[in-house]
Amino acid sequence: MIDFNRLIEKHLERESRPKQIGRYYPSEIGTCLRKIWYSYKHPMETKAELTKIFELGNILHEFVVDVLKSEKNKEVELLEEELPFQKSYPGFIVSGRIDDLILLKENNTKILVEVKSTKSVLPIGEAQDSHKTQLQLYMHATGVHKGIVLYVDKNNLQSKAFEIEYSKEEGEKIIERFKQLHTALTSDLLPTAEAKKFENKQWLCRFCDYAEKCEKNEA
Ligand code: SF4
Repeated sequence: MIDFNRLIEKHLERESRPKQIGRYYPSEIGTCLRKIWYSYKHPMETKAELTKIFELGNILHEFVVDVLKSEKNKEVELLEEELPFQKSYPGFIVSGRIDDLILLKENNTKILVEVKSTKSVLPIGEAQDSHKTQLQLYMHATGVHKGIVLYVDKNNLQSKAFEIEYSKEEGEKIIERFKQLHTALTSDLLPTAEAKKFENKQWLCRFCDYAEKCEKNEA
């Protein structure tokens, strides 16, 4: 029998390159600073299961692009998709990709859209902090001050969209956070176990590959 799981895994196999200190990612900065620090100092191979989940996210994003481009949806125009994002700060670069930039024709408003796939949209009552952070940074850096986090259910394509209010102060705080990360990495200082400290972030620890190191404060 053909092992289709293996075929998919081989198709998705990529050469993994360790992350470089000095290049940081908007999609990560809203999570636990200590976890990000470990991912630079003690890189791990991305598990095959996770690679498949990422690919599913890409596939869903392609679907959203088709929806936004559709002739039947004349109220919106897709201006950009997978827009490369790169900003330089003293000593480091922040690099990523903005999912979509759309134009809402009724009031000629540009909106950034960050698409996230999810197991179910039903329990989602608001956008996740790290997703808000990512979008807030994009809004701050691009000058497009309208943004939406769009969740799409992997099981049934139901969606939920959350408008995120731009805040200059929040944008500046996020850049400070990148600076904090850069200083901790270049000076070899382990950041505090951030996710453990905040109730709304503790769930991150359940999925953290570095939980053991973190428990021992291992640097
Ligand atoms: S276990 Fe929790 S606090 Fe520690 S690095 Fe992981 S996410 Fe951060």
